[in-house]
Amino acid sequence: MGTRYVYFFGEGKADGSAAMKHLLGGKGANLAEMTNLGIPVPPGFTISTEVCTYFYQSKGSYPPGLEQEVEEALHRLENLMGRRFGDPEKPLLVSVRSGAAVSMPGMMDTVLNLGLNDRTVEGLARETHDPRFAYDCYRRFLSMYGDVVLGLKAESPDEIDPFEEIIDELKKARGVQFDNQLSADDLKELCLRYKELIRRKIGKDFPQEPKAQLWGAIGAVFGSWDNPRAIAYRQINGIPDDMGTAVNVQCMVFGNMGDDCATGVAFTRNPATGENVLYGEYLVNAQGEDVVAGIRTPQPINIRQKTDPSMVSLEEAMPEAYAELERIRKILDRHYRDMQDIEFTIQRRKLWMLQTRTGKRTGFAAFKIAVDMVREGILTPKEALLRVEPNQLNQLLRPIFDAQAKQKAIASKALLAKGLNAGPGAATGRVVFNAVDAEEWAERGEKVILVRLETSPDDIRGMHAAQGILTSRGGMTSHAALVARQMGKVCVVGCGDLEIDYKQRQMTVNGRVVKEGDWISVDGSTGEVFVGQIPTRPSEVLQVLLDKTLKPEESAIYQDYMELMQWADAHRSLGVRTNADQPDQAETALLFGAEGIGLCRTEHMFFEGERIHAVREMILAPTKEGREKALAKLLPMQREDFKGIFRVMKGLPVTIRTLDPPLHEFLPTQEADIRTVAEQMGVSVERVRAKMQALHEANPMLGHRGCRLGVVYPEITAMQARAILEAACEVKKEGLDVHPEIMIPLVGHVAELAHQKRIVDEVAREVMEQYGVQVDYVVGTMIEVPRGALTADEIAKEAMFFSFGTNDLTQTVYGISRDDAAKFLHDYLDKRIWDFDPFERIDQDGVGQLMKMGVEKGRATRPDLKVGICGEHGGEPSSVEFCHRIGLNYVSCSPYRVPIARLAAARAAIREA
Ligand code: ADP
Ligand code: MG
Ligand code: MG
Repeated sequence: MGTRYVYFFGEGKADGSAAMKHLLGGKGANLAEMTNLGIPVPPGFTISTEVCTYFYQSKGSYPPGLEQEVEEALHRLENLMGRRFGDPEKPLLVSVRSGAAVSMPGMMDTVLNLGLNDRTVEGLARETHDPRFAYDCYRRFLSMYGDVVLGLKAESPDEIDPFEEIIDELKKARGVQFDNQLSADDLKELCLRYKELIRRKIGKDFPQEPKAQLWGAIGAVFGSWDNPRAIAYRQINGIPDDMGTAVNVQCMVFGNMGDDCATGVAFTRNPATGENVLYGEYLVNAQGEDVVAGIRTPQPINIRQKTDPSMVSLEEAMPEAYAELERIRKILDRHYRDMQDIEFTIQRRKLWMLQTRTGKRTGFAAFKIAVDMVREGILTPKEALLRVEPNQLNQLLRPIFDAQAKQKAIASKALLAKGLNAGPGAATGRVVFNAVDAEEWAERGEKVILVRLETSPDDIRGMHAAQGILTSRGGMTSHAALVARQMGKVCVVGCGDLEIDYKQRQMTVNGRVVKEGDWISVDGSTGEVFVGQIPTRPSEVLQVLLDKTLKPEESAIYQDYMELMQWADAHRSLGVRTNADQPDQAETALLFGAEGIGLCRTEHMFFEGERIHAVREMILAPTKEGREKALAKLLPMQREDFKGIFRVMKGLPVTIRTLDPPLHEFLPTQEADIRTVAEQMGVSVERVRAKMQALHEANPMLGHRGCRLGVVYPEITAMQARAILEAACEVKKEGLDVHPEIMIPLVGHVAELAHQKRIVDEVAREVMEQYGVQVDYVVGTMIEVPRGALTADEIAKEAMFFSFGTNDLTQTVYGISRDDAAKFLHDYLDKRIWDFDPFERIDQDGVGQLMKMGVEKGRATRPDLKVGICGEHGGEPSSVEFCHRIGLNYVSCSPYRVPIARLAAARAAIREA
């Protein structure tokens, strides 16, 4: 026997099954599966994807034997139904449906009611005693066939669909609004006009012969595999061209036979909330796509879903059919072990299932369904972990807009612009255009959104005070985006439509003017910006964890979250730390499950209050003595900072990075500020300006920064080491354990590290002796320039640990300054030169190779070398997975990303096993 091309399903038995998606397509495989489960499915057959492949390889011809097989399957259908194809008394009608293994918009649409012609339509009318129904089917068939098989579509975007035009004319002439108000004679007339249209346009009569209709439709399905829309979709989604589509030929069931008929779509669980209840819509006396096409307003599937008492739910209108649907929902949900998206039709109160597939859902629903399914004994915890995309957890943690309120806002044209969704969540507040205003307004109790061209370290406190941050420039890894994520702030960046005028305190957006004090709403999950106030809802998890305004036992969501996180922790081997500069951030991260601090940036502390003066004094001092005097002022402040962090971390490891940014970042830029600084420092304006000139660098990213500062000014490293160790000794004396890890940035040569380490060790010896306390501290390095990775074996002789600084490493491996990348990043992504932004996701092929080498070389020297990552990538799921694979000990990310990293780490371990 040769290859088989046709697979039958009907009468409780099918040749295929859900496992045969590649051969039967998703639709066909699931129709077979449902049939085998004993679920009522109209019988039919599937022509396999192999025919599609053959069709393309042989320029549109079919494999020998196919016609025979189709013929046989048709006979089988005829016998089963007791009807014949083209029989004028009892005609068999079918639908022809396309269906690839993955669902693909752009493929041929379904043709319903195939088999009707001028004679069989009369037979159908006689048999059903319902000419209106018969001609309704015929006119639908004529327009669908005309459209999808004969290609009669609107010829230009300004024109309307030619069939649409005719029915609209007729409705107008009859003075009716809806299709179902047309009489049998109207519909008969419509069929005549449709056939006329077809004859006029293609110069041939509409094919009356059902077999010709069938082969026409089959050919159109296979032909649509190679239409430009489908090809483009495959390209974008990486679907192989030779996969092919299947064709399903299925007996018609009718939802348009009267008021005891209906058609609908539903989900086996609520796709927005995940609730384990049937959720969907239906229409009485309708066929196929009517529900989604918006011809009439669909009604809710059940009573609980009604939002208006005038609605009539299926549960009320057809209780038996509803009960049957409810029964089948449970079977499918349990059998497929996942939420299903289903299509059904009710013909004379009998329910028929027409499709099932895994349903799309919100992150929130994904999470709830996964946890529920473990409780219901459907999934194992391991499987549940694989069902939730780590980033989907965001939706659980962030405040969100009330969905209906947002819909309303869109409907009333309140959408102002769209940028990049840098910090998920929802925020609403009044516009302010600078950080000082943000702070002041917030102090008065105003809710504000800070709107800037872009942000700088100067703006940190204003950003903190704002509900949300909106910038017109910058990408996903811009300062604003980075800080917002660390703070857990709602943030939209790179919103190019904003024309911000700081002076006028207003912005113009596509001709609309938004002034200081006006309300706007920012959706950091989608990048949308609205004018006006949209009500938000805080996430329950945060209400329990952080605000403590809700008790754990009062929140089911919180309990579910904790459960999922416990499963994640049980399965992961990769540690998860946080990037935190302040005790409050550290505390938040601990509540999210952080196991230490992987990066504490000391320079962020330098901007606080009085400190910036001491920092500037240090920078402006002409001598080492002068610098040391200024540093002595900073010492107690830094010590207090570290004590605060050590106390919060209660013995967990804390990695502190010594000063990293170039010094000019701490100097003022505005003329007025320069004058103030000069006054405060008691030096001339010229001196300040001269120093600024001296510090000017052509390319600060590659300039005097990182350990290069500590090499030139060892006293800075010494002061920082002292602050850390004194803090450690004092906290130890309080009875808490402390594990400081002192991290030297930007090391490319082992001698740099050795130099800095000597300073730290010397200070440590002194301090510990002075306090009479032993502190278990270690000195390690960041690996963030290529030479660091290339000579990792040498560097590991001095380093007790490595931490990959993948932001700088990406910049230096690519030779691209991250701050300037925005200018061409879009083009690189649009033109598919890059598949992704390497500052967002680790470039595993390039940067990742260096990381791998760094781990291997480092551990060759020091087998127990602890290796982590503290770049922004540490909270990005695919990067976390990569870190697991190359054997890192931990990832470190911003506090709000900690749960995401925990989940990603667990999934990496499960996938590897
Ligand atoms: P899509 O892939 O666009 O969902 P479908 O093949 O599922 O297209 O069909 C479109 C509509 O027609 C759906 O509502 C489906 O339920 C309905 N339909 C398809 N085949 C039949 C049939 N044999 N009887 C009744 N309705 C059908
Ligand atoms: Mg469908
Ligand atoms: Mg760096």
